[in-house]
Amino acid sequence: MNETEHAKARPRWGMVIDLDRCDACQGCTTACQTENNIPPPTPQSAAQDRSIRWMELLPNVEGEYPRVKLRLIPRPCMHCDKPPCIKVCPVGATAIGAEGIIAQVYARCIGCRYCTTACPYTARYFNWYPPRWPEQLSQSLNPDVSVRPRGVVEKCSFCHHRLQKARDKAAAEKRELRPGEYLPACVEACPTKAMFFGDLDDPRSEVAQLARSPRSFRLLEDLGTEPKVFYLREGE
Ligand code: SF4
Repeated sequence: MNETEHAKARPRWGMVIDLDRCDACQGCTTACQTENNIPPPTPQSAAQDRSIRWMELLPNVEGEYPRVKLRLIPRPCMHCDKPPCIKVCPVGATAIGAEGIIAQVYARCIGCRYCTTACPYTARYFNWYPPRWPEQLSQSLNPDVSVRPRGVVEKCSFCHHRLQKARDKAAAEKRELRPGEYLPACVEACPTKAMFFGDLDDPRSEVAQLARSPRSFRLLEDLGTEPKVFYLREGE
């Protein structure tokens, strides 16, 4: 691909998470919660397993007995290239954008939860309760992100509002979006720099190179959903 062709191509946003660097500190989950106006869990939501976690640390057992190891793996929406969640939505409330980001249209969602059942990564959450924050946090919501009402399904958007902001800034300065200018909050907050984000179709990008690493794998790859989130195994 030459420079001109590259300038014309649309990015295909994806993420790489290096499990060698991730220490499961939950910095990513906290950043996601704050950035995206996700109500904190309450004793009731936790007891009923109805808390919302767009970025979740999933327990994963590695190895064969007796040499087994339990580790926690950060799991956002995989923004699958072949997403089963879209196929089952009866009202077209979820769609794949031109740059591969799976969007959720809250105004269309009727809360039937077919998508939640179809997602093999448990990345979707039904909003069981009216969103509420403790008094001290209610004045610090992110104005760039909607507050979702009770009764809709929600999930990670790769912080799509940040892409729009970065695009607007680049347009105002009459230039192209620079690599690294658009990063989801989780990637930016990771203290061990275990998360990478960028254009998977740009062979020069770090994320594209890491996704092709021999250490790279995807969750539930056999299902054919083609996730755009890659993981790097711990070094041997
Ligand atoms: Fe849809 Fe789940 Fe894939 Fe996200 S991870 S695109 S919600 S199937």
